[in-house]
Amino acid sequence: MHEYHEAIHIIEHAIDQAKAEGKSKVTKINLVIGESSGFSGDSIRLHFEEAAVGTICEGAEICVKPVKTMLRCPNCRELFARRPFHFECPHCGTEGEPSEVGKEMAIESIEAQ
Ligand SMILES: [Zn+2]
Repeated sequence: MHEYHEAIHIIEHAIDQAKAEGKSKVTKINLVIGESSGFSGDSIRLHFEEAAVGTICEGAEICVKPVKTMLRCPNCRELFARRPFHFECPHCGTEGEPSEVGKEMAIESIEAQ
């Protein structure tokens, strides 16, 4: 159910921003969703479409920019993409540690008119 709450949050945020800009209709919402965030863009989109009915967000397009999960090398601080069953840094071979990249779930921008 966290996608439902996130969709509500996105709608509230979009309405606030549109009103602050003196706009009356939200047309597009750009989201950044990491593949390790636990959020599904499709699910957020479905909940959004349902919850937006009757608000100025109704009919707005949801655009999801996926972010690949990245590991950070504790030795050389390099960020690198996780590959299946391989966690070694491509530069020095040290085993990578989880980084914050890939865990994000954020509103990148809101377009209104
Ligand atoms: Zn390294």
